Amino acid sequence: MLSTRPIANTLRARISIAALVAETVDFVRTGDELRGECTAHQDRERGLFVQDAKGLYQCFSCGRQGDVVQWTRDTVRCSEEAAIAILRQRAGFDSPDD
Ligand SMILES: [Zn+2]
Repeated sequence: MLSTRPIANTLRARISIAALVAETVDFVRTGDELRGECTAHQDRERGLFVQDAKGLYQCFSCGRQGDVVQWTRDTVRCSEEAAIAILRQRAGFDSPDD
């Protein structure tokens, strides 16, 4: 899912989904596509696709999809608010109201 918070647009523009996902998933690149093994289930077919230009990931095996906020929620197992706080820090925002 895509976060609908206004800050999410900024975070999607500032943070590479490919770089974020690559911290936990090994990718192979075919053209503009990045494919890796999904972390949500036993995946041996590299069902997880990342489209960095769009800031999105999608798994064609289990159907999970989303943006940097959703990925962080799934990986850290936290709320949307907490994920946004983590990503704000990663993007270099200092104050809560940037
Ligand atoms: Zn999957």
